[in-house]
Parts: sequence; structure tokens; C-alpha cells
Amino acid sequence: MATERTLSIIKPDATRRNLTGRINALFEEAGLRIVAQKRIRLSDLQAGAFYEVHKERPFYASLVSSMTAGPVVVQVLEGEGAILKNRSVMGATDPKKAEPNTVRAQFAESIEANSVHGSDSPENAAAEIAFFFAGTEILP
Ligand code: ATP
Ligand code: MG
Repeated sequence: MATERTLSIIKPDATRRNLTGRINALFEEAGLRIVAQKRIRLSDLQAGAFYEVHKERPFYASLVSSMTAGPVVVQVLEGEGAILKNRSVMGATDPKKAEPNTVRAQFAESIEANSVHGSDSPENAAAEIAFFFAGTEILP
């Protein structure tokens, strides 16, 4: 399998509870390298654009406000099959359905405040990484 990069976000519910380090440890233990990382506060415009694909879903407005409620940590994870690997470290969207020991099983508060985001395809990973990072900010 090829080396890939994926975009990860540690969401406001997790930064509020001081979980950045514990979540990063799970990524690193799974063999993912954090090759770029910054702590930022998303604007409504940025969060709305990032989750544009969900615009018609009933939870869109609530999702955007939960993503702007506090700082997030945006990061690029790199490794063999990083996109799928990160999704398996994260666990299912709904923490009640997430495998034990995944980030969401251990830390998510709810299906919405579910602690992390991860890209779901190579195309989305490339677009989401470019949304937050310049090439010069990514250091393998
Ligand atoms: P993400 O895209 O954040 O990595 P995901 O791919 O597991 O999560 P999506 O279906 O893309 O899930 O939904 C994006 C985000 O919208 C979820 O992470 C969650 O915060 C929120 N969300 C999804 N489904 C619901 C729902 N039924 N009710 C409330 N919020 C939801
Ligand atoms: Mg998704």
C-alpha cells in the first residue's frame, strides 16, 4: 500500500477537555506521523465551507456552530494507507457504534461532538489538506 496523507481535525469538544495529546498518541501508536499541525479557531464561513457537502442535512447549522465553539487542531497525518488507517483509529461517526479503543469510543461526547474529523477519500484528503495548509507547512 502507498504512503498517503490525510487531513485530521481534533474538534472543539476534544480541545476543550484537553485531549489533544492523548488523541495524538493514538495516531502515532497506529503508525501515523503528524507532518503538519496547528491550533486555530474556525470562522462560521470556514466551517460552513469545509462541511459544504452536508449543507442539506438537518444537522448542518448545529454542526457548523459546534465546529466554531472553540479552537480546533488541524493536522496532516502521513503513513501507509493513512486515509483508511486514520478512519479505523477514529471509529464510527456515532460513538455508540464505534469499536472499543477507537478515539470516538473513548472520547466522543455524541454523534455530533465526536472529537475528530478525518478525510474519507484520496480526492477529499487532497482538497481538505489544501484548505488548511500550504505545501511549505508540511514537513515529513
Ligand atoms: P467526519 O467527516 O467529521 O470525519 P464522518 O465522516 O464519520 O465524520 P459524516 O457523515 O461525514 O461523518 O458527518 C460529518 C460530521 O457531521 C460528523 O463527524 C458529525 O460531527 C456530524 N454528524 C454526522 N451525522 C450526524 C447526525 N446524525 N447528527 C448530528 N451530527 C451528525
Ligand atoms: Mg465525513
